[in-house]
Amino acid sequence: MRDKIIEEILKFGNDVYIDEPMKCHVSFRIGGPVSAFVVSPSIEIFIKTFSFLKEIREVKVLGNGTNVLPKDSKMDFFILSTNRLNKIEILEDKIICESGLNLKSLCNITAKNGIAGFENLYGIPGSVGGAVYMNAGAYGSEIADLVLYVEAYDGNKIVRFNVNELKFSYRNSLFREEKDLIILRVAFKKFNDEPDLILEKMREIILKRVEKQPLEFPSAGSVFKRPRKDFYVGSAIEKAGLKGFKIGGAKVSEKHAGFIINYNNATYDDVVNLIKYIKEKIYENYKINLETEIEIW
Ligand SMILES: Cc1cc2nc3c(=O)[nH]c(=O)nc-3n(C[C@H](O)[C@H](O)[C@H](O)COP(=O)(O)OP(=O)(O)OC[C@H]3O[C@@H](n4cnc5c(N)ncnc54)[C@H](O)[C@@H]3O)c2cc1C
Repeated sequence: MRDKIIEEILKFGNDVYIDEPMKCHVSFRIGGPVSAFVVSPSIEIFIKTFSFLKEIREVKVLGNGTNVLPKDSKMDFFILSTNRLNKIEILEDKIICESGLNLKSLCNITAKNGIAGFENLYGIPGSVGGAVYMNAGAYGSEIADLVLYVEAYDGNKIVRFNVNELKFSYRNSLFREEKDLIILRVAFKKFNDEPDLILEKMREIILKRVEKQPLEFPSAGSVFKRPRKDFYVGSAIEKAGLKGFKIGGAKVSEKHAGFIINYNNATYDDVVNLIKYIKEKIYENYKINLETEIEIW
């Protein structure tokens, strides 16, 4: 059965990798084989493939894989990657880009064109789709501040959602609730400024990230959501004495206690057990139930 499905989606023009290890596609560098890892070369083929697959198999969409933790064991689903959906159009009054475009490329392109607003997002390693899905943000900005509308596929047709329909809130959006909606294109507002000023701001942001974040190790960024505006999870984990605490190959980063790093061939269980342990400690100390920002598959 799987071979027949693969034969069909190859005919659509996809690249297909069978039993592909997820550790090669996620920033945590953890994850066993998925039934098939499918890369579509265009939005049209992506839609056709998604429509075909969703009727017969479980299918998950993956952007840059910087916010997910997959299992080590064999996973019986198909991955549809947005990696090659990366066209961008700069129009008079807006920017429209495909959901697989890297945020880093978006920031570089907008800066070079004298378009401001994206500076604080520079260095978030996700795709545009992944960033909209979880309303990624940093240094006081969120992607929601810049979105005009999103074109999504609902399994039957392409639907346009204006920003006020996207239910953006802290690390959340409509797409986190409605898993059947797939982000295809995002239109962003356009604010003009001097390219040199924009690039200077971006440089400052990258320096802050390099100084504060353990970028030398595989991770998925901050593991937990901030439960309240005034509650800093990294500081709370540090105060609970957990900086550097390890389970197997997973460790609470010494540089930023909000990050769990894969410092030595960590397994899925190492990370999940460390998350559980941190949650228990934070509950003991603060009576707060932490929620994960990362998606555990
Ligand atoms: C070193 C590091 C630093 C980070 N810093 C930050 C930060 O400062 N701020 C921040 O907010 N995050 C940060 N992150 C987390 C992560 O980069 C962001 O959450 C990013 O937006 C995830 O995008 P992605 O493409 O990698 O998503 P993925 O990990 O590929 O996917 C995450 C979820 O989004 C869904 N998804 C992806 N694309 C689509 C689509 N087109 N349609 C529908 N659903 C989709 C997936 O199905 C999955 O459920 C950091 C991560 C790392 C590793």
